[in-house]
This record gives sequence, C-alpha cells and structure tokens, in this order.
Amino acid sequence: MKILDLLETYKVSERLAMISETETLTYRELWEKSESLAAYINDKCGTDKTPVIVYGHKSPWMMVCFIACVKSGRAYVPVDISVPKSRVEAIIDSVEPRIILASEEFGAYRDYFCYDVRHNTYHGGTKVSPEGYVREEDIFYIIFTSGSTGVPKGVQITYGALNHFTEWALSLGQIEKQHKKIINQAPFSFDLSVMDLYMSLASESCLCVLEKEAQQEYKRLFERLAVTNADVWVSTPSFADVCLADPSFNQKLIPNLRLFLFCGETLTNKTAGALLQRFPKAEVYNTYGPTESTVAVTEVKVDSKLNGQFQPLPVGRVKPGTQIHIMDGEKIVPEGEKGEIVISGNTVSAGYFKNQKENDRAFYVTDQGGNLLRSYRTGDKGYFKDGMLFYCGRIDLQIKLHGYRMELEDVEENLMKVPGVKKAAVVPVSDNGKVKYLKACCIYENNIEDKRREMKKVKAEMAKFVPDYMVPRKIIFVESIPMTNNGKVDRKKLQEIQ
Ligand code: AMP
Repeated sequence: MKILDLLETYKVSERLAMISETETLTYRELWEKSESLAAYINDKCGTDKTPVIVYGHKSPWMMVCFIACVKSGRAYVPVDISVPKSRVEAIIDSVEPRIILASEEFGAYRDYFCYDVRHNTYHGGTKVSPEGYVREEDIFYIIFTSGSTGVPKGVQITYGALNHFTEWALSLGQIEKQHKKIINQAPFSFDLSVMDLYMSLASESCLCVLEKEAQQEYKRLFERLAVTNADVWVSTPSFADVCLADPSFNQKLIPNLRLFLFCGETLTNKTAGALLQRFPKAEVYNTYGPTESTVAVTEVKVDSKLNGQFQPLPVGRVKPGTQIHIMDGEKIVPEGEKGEIVISGNTVSAGYFKNQKENDRAFYVTDQGGNLLRSYRTGDKGYFKDGMLFYCGRIDLQIKLHGYRMELEDVEENLMKVPGVKKAAVVPVSDNGKVKYLKACCIYENNIEDKRREMKKVKAEMAKFVPDYMVPRKIIFVESIPMTNNGKVDRKKLQEIQ
C-alpha cells in the first residue's frame, strides 16, 4: 500500500475526506489544494529539503498541508495550538525550517518565514509530480514527544513505515474496509492521530474531527458525535472514560459504531467492559506501541470472554513485519519472564531528529542475513504469555497522564524555569494503577504570604513553558527534597508528603 498513490485514485472523488465542526474537505479538494500548496513550497524552498513545520488545530487545512509537504518531497512536523509558545519555539529551533505553514494565528518568530495557508491564493509555480514525492525510505513526518532533558525530541517516521502501519491498522476489525466515518480525538501532534488520519485517507473514508473545545463540554461533544454517525472510533482509553461518565454515551448515540481502537495507555477491564455493554454492536481493540514504532505494533480484540479471562488485559499479538523481544540488557528472557520490551522491524523509527546521543541509547541495527533490522528499546516493561504481550509499566520516569506521554524530568526542568523555584521534584499520584495527577515539591525562594496564590502564580508561569497537562495539579513548598542514600530524589518519600 502507498498512501499517495491511493489518494491519486481518489482525486476526482466528491466524498468527504474530513469534516470539522464548521468545515468540510472533499478528496478532490484535498488533491487540488495540496498540489498548488506543494508547488508553492517548492518555489519557496528550492532544493532545500528541510522538514516543514505545520501549525494549527483540526481544520481541513492541516490535512492539505501534510499532503502538500510530502508531495513536495519534504517531511512535515505537526504542531498543535495547544503546544505553548516556548515549546513551539524549541521545536522550530531544532528543525530550522525554511517555511512554517500555519492554519491558525501564528505571529512571528525570529526570521522564520510563516505562510498562512488560509489565504492561499497561490497559482502557478512548478507543478509537482510523483517523482518529487517523498520516497519509501524518506521521512514522512516528525512528531515531537517529551524528552528527559526538558527539550522535546523529534521522532522521524518514514513513508515506508507509515504505509506498513496503515495497511495493518486497516485490517483490524470485521468491518467494511472502504468509505467509513472515523472519529479523530487526538491532536495531530500526537501519534495516535496517525492511526485515524491515515486509516481514513487510505480507505477513502471521512475523518470526523473532535476539536479541543468540543471535547470539553458533554452537550456539544455528544451533539457532534450524534451528527458524525461514525463507524470507527480511535482514542485514548482516558477519553472513552470521560465519555462513559455520561450514561447517554451508548449505541443509541452512535448507532453505526462498529469498532473501537485504543492505544497509548492501559485499557482497563472496567472501561472495556462498559463499552462492550453499552455498544453491543461494536468490537473493542487494545493496541500498543510508542511513537518510535509508528503508533502501534500489537493488537488484541477484547470481547467479554477475554475481558473475564485476563486482569489486566493483554496488549496483544505482534503485527506482521514486527518482532518483539523481552530483554534483560543484551539477553532475551524466556516466555513468561518480565523484561524490557524491544521492538524490531519495518515500522521502527529512523531515529530522533538531530539527536545522536538519544539515538545511540535507544536504537540499534542488526544484520539479518544481509537485511538491516532496526530495533528500539522502549523502556517499557512487559512479558509474553499465551502468545500475547502484557504491559507492566515503565523502567524509567516516563509516565502517561490522560493519554499524554511525558518524562517527569521534563516536568521538573520546566518547573525550575519558574522564577523563585530553586529545586523541584515531581511524582505521579495514582489510583487503581492509573495516574490521576502530578504532585510537585518545590524549594521556593520567594516570600510566601498566601500559599494558594503563590501556587497559582507558579502554575501560570509554568504554563508558559509546557502544555497544560504537564503543569502539576498540586504544588507543595518544602524546605528540602528527600534524597535516597545514593543521592537520587527519593520518589517514594515524595509520594508521602502532603
Ligand atoms: P506515545 O509515544 O505517546 O504513544 O507513548 C508510548 C507509551 O505509551 C508506550 O511506551 C507505553 O508506555 C504506553 N502505551 C502505549 N500503548 C499502551 C497500551 N495499550 N497499554 C499500556 N500502555 C501503553
């Protein structure tokens, strides 16, 4: 499967490629608009193939920009409006793009050239042709994720990896393979969105996006869900939990829904059970994978039998083209034993963008009879049982909060950027094995007259550096931070501080 070839076969189709709260885009429009935008990018950048930053939220323009970039032979870097300015700037500083495409207000940053695609009046330019498109081995997109140094790292995914992933994702579930309506929950700067976006584009389906605002209000959200009448749902389990909190989230609301696809965090028995009960016509799939392996590499259909059989649920069987080994250092451990999950195969990332140190740590290549096999050390703990992979947490300080991936060190580094915060340590507070919120302890140099006010101030300052979900809910001002004997922050003791 090649996504761009498929899009060409849909280029006169009047079917909808995307529907948002206020806008629509047909496959014909997607093809034509991306052609002229690709020509524009080529004229602007010449032979310079540096990746292009695409800034915005969930308007159809985002889709046009992504396809235009790859048609011009350049990777795109999606950046959602929810990413705060200083983090966007860190991404720009890392990429050093020749052009930034924006479909939301962007403003100016240094000398970087920003083109507001909404005013796209460009005609002419050098027409693009398939010879100029990204090739299988070229980078298709770069998604930035939280890095432990406080600066995000860019995961590079090739066109070949994306094609392999998409073909597999489309094989999940006993449903029609073409012309579906697929719900998109995640912002485009998170790799979960790659699942709905490219499953949709490859099958001439309609991507029904749920904008940020629409997700924050039940009435509006449920009205949107009813209107979209989707048949496929892609989200984090956390988002399903939010919806399940309202009893009207059931098959009556979305009568055609046949398939739930989850990835990114633990799918609990409770969530799966509630969905199976409320949506008797739908199948529920748990999938697992990090951004570095192109969204997901394992899958399992969770029916009531499996849900009763396993607690916690497995993350499933390994997809074709991928191998997973459970390792203890360089050694593969026997089935049933726990170790680090190492993923190898045709969807493993080409590495982090301009980050040799992290690449050396996380990726390696082995020669398999003349074929080079790329592997990624996930930092996830797991084991195999009955041919299925089970996930059991992290071996480092990466966590998931409401589906968002972050390194605790990243949160700490950015908290220490707040004036007055001399030292900070952060821990996740969990309930039933699921992270509920972040708690931070800070050594604070400023005068504290009113703790609450000061805490608010620190939070507001911190929100300038990181997305809202990375700002700890609780901040405790302390005299000293507990340390272990070997001089590390004692996170166990931190948990106990009230
Ligand atoms: P991201 O790169 O944002 O997709 O985050 C990847 C990480 O999320 C993985 O390394 C796991 O720690 C976690 N994760 C992904 N899928 C699952 C799953 N199905 N169950 C539990 N954790 C998951």
